[in-house]
This record gives sequence, structure tokens and C-alpha cells, in this order.
Amino acid sequence: MSTDRRTLFAGSATIAAALALPAILRPAGAQQAAAPAAPTATNAQAPGFYRFKVGGLTVTTVHDGFVRRPVAGFVRNAPLAEVQAVLASNFMAADTLTVPFTMTFVTTPAGIVAFDAGNATQAGAATNGQAAANMRAAGIDPTRVVAVIFSHFHGDHISGLTSADGQRLFPNAELIVPATEWAWWTEDGNLTRSPEGQRPNFANTKTRFAPYQGRIRQIADGAEAVPGIRAMAAYGHTPGHTMYHIADGGEQMVYLADITNRPELMAPKPEWQIVFDFDGDMAAAVRRRTLDRVATDRMRVTGYHFPFPSNGYFIKDGAGYRFVPADWSSAI
Ligand SMILES: [Zn+2]
Repeated sequence: MSTDRRTLFAGSATIAAALALPAILRPAGAQQAAAPAAPTATNAQAPGFYRFKVGGLTVTTVHDGFVRRPVAGFVRNAPLAEVQAVLASNFMAADTLTVPFTMTFVTTPAGIVAFDAGNATQAGAATNGQAAANMRAAGIDPTRVVAVIFSHFHGDHISGLTSADGQRLFPNAELIVPATEWAWWTEDGNLTRSPEGQRPNFANTKTRFAPYQGRIRQIADGAEAVPGIRAMAAYGHTPGHTMYHIADGGEQMVYLADITNRPELMAPKPEWQIVFDFDGDMAAAVRRRTLDRVATDRMRVTGYHFPFPSNGYFIKDGAGYRFVPADWSSAI
């Protein structure tokens, strides 16, 4: 068999070589294509949205694109080689981590609600800020979003509230925010009590929420954001990081937000803390407790940095957990 295999591979290599364009015919700039280019006719992906039901509610996950960052420095409390070993076991790149963004929308009797706001065009990479196009493809009109419910105020979750020139991108929405999160980032005295890397969130919180004055509602842990959607404190990733329990007709799910970043990396090692965790010890404890609960209860979840379509289940696996993406049969 090895001779056949070798012949086959040799043949493929020859064909590939024959198809390779001479350098002179390559598009200009192809050699320095380190930064991902803006989507074009030849590299754009299909619209990213996915729908499923929770009781009578329709849940739609909408992809906002991704950014790439170095793997080095991402996990604070594990050797790089261990992190890379987990990545390798998930067929993920060793040096560059792709961090996707996905908004969760729920169509309720009261109207469409969004969980977190995406990046709009403000995360500085051409590969994100795709939510507007994908919402359009999914038939979600931002002017008809009645509420945006927030997990926390990191830039990738709130910057999509406004355009670059400060206009509201959800012009008719009420903003529903965890009271604890609001209290932290709107008190300037907390700036010096925050890790250095978190300090830009104070100014960004002011900028993004300013055009929505008078439409911001703070809710306490355990309170209903809208009927059937309840806040669940998950503090640690930020001082007021909050998940949401969504229930209808005897079915339920949880919007986990940033309880993990990429679940392939963090579910097997819930104790790992990432560079964006405000209080790493607290975040890790809450992560383990939460993954344990959703695994035990076999609850469907969506997350903000999960691989698209960003929903599925966790199961216990050894000393940690494993993410199992939802099967396509549950799409509607
Ligand atoms: Zn995030």
C-alpha cells in the first residue's frame, strides 16, 4: 500500500506544482499578506447565522468575525508548551489563536433581544465587524431589536453599540446591564484598582453608552432581564460578568458569554486563566462550577468566543470538560 500512497502523493504534488501560478501572475501584495485582508469576492465566507428553538423562542447565533493573536501570553498560569499541546490536540494552530465573536439573538414575544453588541468596525481587523451583514442575511433588522442584554463591558462586547462616528447601531433598543458591571466601569475611582490592561474599558464604556442615555436599565443578579431571561452572576472575568438563563415551554439554555474563551482550550483546563481575566482565580472557580452545572444538567449553551455556530453542550471529560457542538439536526 505504501507504494500506492507514495505514488498518489507524488502525483498530487506534481499537479499542485503545475497549477501554481508563476510569481509574476500572483496578485500584487500577495507576498506581504501577513494581515488578513478585507473579505473580497474570492475569500468571503458564506453568511454566518444559525437558528434553533428553545421552547417557542427562536434563537439565532450571528457571527461577527474574528481576530487573531499570539498564543504566547494568552494563558497566564500554564507553560506555553502545555497550552500548545491542548491546541494541537484540537487541530488548532500552535502560535496564533483565532478568537471568534458571535452574538446570540432571541426572538421573544416582546421582540428581538440581542446578547452583547459585537465589535462593529472598531476592533481594528478587517476580519471582524461582520455582524451587520450577517444580521441582514438572517433577517434581523437592528432597528427592531428591542433590547441588548450585556454580559460585561470588554470592548469586543460593547463597541458594536455605536458606529465610528458615535451613532446608535441599535437605535430603538433598551440596554440591560448587570448592576455590578455598571457600577465598576462607571466609577472613575476604580481605574487605579483595575489591572492595567483593563483600564481602557472605562473610557470605552463612557463612549459606547453615552448615545443611549435614558435607555439603560441596570438589573441585579437573579433578576429577569425580559420575561424568561434571567441574570446569573458569574463574576471574575470582569467584576460583574453575567450569564443569562433562557427558558420557555419546559426547555432551557444558558448564554455563557465569556465563561470560557475558546472552549477547546479552556474546557479541558478550567483552572487556566487568560490575559483578559480581571480576577483570574475567581474566573477559574466560576468557570469550573458553571461547566459542571451545564454538563450535569445537559443544558444547551451559546458562548461569545465559541467556534461558529457557537452553540452546543459540555460533557465531563477526565479532570475537565469537553465542548460538543450541537448537531445540525437541531437547526430549524
Ligand atoms: Zn469577550
